[in-house]
Amino acid sequence: ASREYAARCAAALDAAQETIHDAESRLGDMDAIAGDGDHGRGMVRGIDAAVAAAAKALGDGAGAGDVLGAAGDAWADKAGGTSGVLWGAGLRAFGESIGNEDAPSQEELAAGVTAFATRITTLGKAEVGDKTMVDALLPFAGTFAKLVSSGTATEAAWAEAAATATSAAEATASLRPLKGRARPLAEKSLGTPDPGATSLAMVFTVMGPYFAA
Ligand code: ADP
Ligand code: MG
Ligand code: MG
Repeated sequence: ASREYAARCAAALDAAQETIHDAESRLGDMDAIAGDGDHGRGMVRGIDAAVAAAAKALGDGAGAGDVLGAAGDAWADKAGGTSGVLWGAGLRAFGESIGNEDAPSQEELAAGVTAFATRITTLGKAEVGDKTMVDALLPFAGTFAKLVSSGTATEAAWAEAAATATSAAEATASLRPLKGRARPLAEKSLGTPDPGATSLAMVFTVMGPYFAA
């Protein structure tokens, strides 16, 4: 079971890679409005390194937690930028939480998502409303945990949480950034969603069928 879930984690990253590559220029354009324009490039560098590290760890016989940890370390190392550090640390925390043993139960998966979110808010110190990736991440984690605890099947809970994250990312268009590089040009950012929230919602949406099948 542990090898099967490790392979699914690697496949989740493969799926995210395709999505991020497709969105690279759009994410860069969004980041260029008030930030420095490198969010698409940084996400591509991060996911490419994560996919390579996950494939290597999987080939070496690693379990799911170690596959995700290796992917996170590579992402943080190669992406550059604020979002890369946070994505990398979040993936490592997710891996440490779900561990190497078996496919996680619903509750263990929800705890893993919470660990991902907690690592990112601890490191980045952003709150909901600051116009960052946290504006999509906390609604995702909260919705997933709530639905799981009320007995919703994992895949449906993940899909609904991802839809919540997507709406929340779109809703950041009306906010002014209070964290990160976009803060000095906060007024210019009005009307455009946060790039990091947008990419996070996209990645969590596409990963669902792998983590939550
Ligand atoms: P950089 O800003 O270093 O160029 P990126 O462009 O890759 O890095 O990422 C920008 C995104 O990072 C923002 O859109 C926002 O979602 C996210 N971000 C910035 N600061 C923080 C923070 N303190 N906590 C969480 N997310 C943040
Ligand atoms: Mg940037
Ligand atoms: Mg940058």
